[in-house]
Amino acid sequence: MLSTRALIEELVDANHILYDQGVVDGFGHVSVRDGARPDRFLLARSMAPALVDAADILAFDLDGNVLGGDRRPPYLERFIHGEIYRARADVMAVVHNHSPCVIPFGVASGAPLRPICHMSGFLHPEAPVFEIRSAAGPASDMLIRDRSLGAALARSLGERAVVLMRGHGATVVGANLRQAVFRAVYTEVNARLQSEALRLGAVTFLNAEEAANAAAMNDKVLSRAWDLWRLRVQGPATASRPAAPKSRPRRRAHGPSTRRGSRQR
Ligand SMILES: [Zn+2]
Repeated sequence: MLSTRALIEELVDANHILYDQGVVDGFGHVSVRDGARPDRFLLARSMAPALVDAADILAFDLDGNVLGGDRRPPYLERFIHGEIYRARADVMAVVHNHSPCVIPFGVASGAPLRPICHMSGFLHPEAPVFEIRSAAGPASDMLIRDRSLGAALARSLGERAVVLMRGHGATVVGANLRQAVFRAVYTEVNARLQSEALRLGAVTFLNAEEAANAAAMNDKVLSRAWDLWRLRVQGPATASRPAAPKSRPRRRAHGPSTRRGSRQR
């Protein structure tokens, strides 16, 4: 089990990776359950994920209260995290995002998000859609702004890995941070590919066995993707990390380059 300090470091990396991979922009957030205290989770204060540093991480109880008397404003939608951790003992990390290719599958009836390739077997059989009108009535601002809405979202998620939120985005869970980040990235990829394939004709999705086997295989090699994604946001290796290749991959134009090298580790 990672120490709280190590979890915070990985959580900072997760924030930057999700931005670099186009899963979050100025909005969206990622949390991790504190393994030493399962009734607590770690989540940044309200800010853009790409700018999060270790000093920005706050601790919360499952009701969404900030612990330790820290008065910096938390994310309004922190109840997504607390209520999913409460409902799902197996969940150790949660990503909430508004990635653009996912949105159509939350609003179009008859087009469920399903696993189209082996990288997204975790989506099987399909991602459920949370309809906020069922929990908040017809005049909400679409946000999960209290515990009861968080609990309703957790019920829609059920035992799945991903729940879409109609007209809003998605929430993705994992047994650890790396798995949650991997799933969030490939949920967006799957949505983009599925939209393209549906334009071409009838689509053959992974069946139950293919999806389960592919997901189990990917879970064994999550670190391969994580290490690459982390390299893009962390800059040159330090003594504690493996050496970076001589020619670094070209960064995305929107990558968080302003913070490179500035982090206190
Ligand atoms: Zn949101």
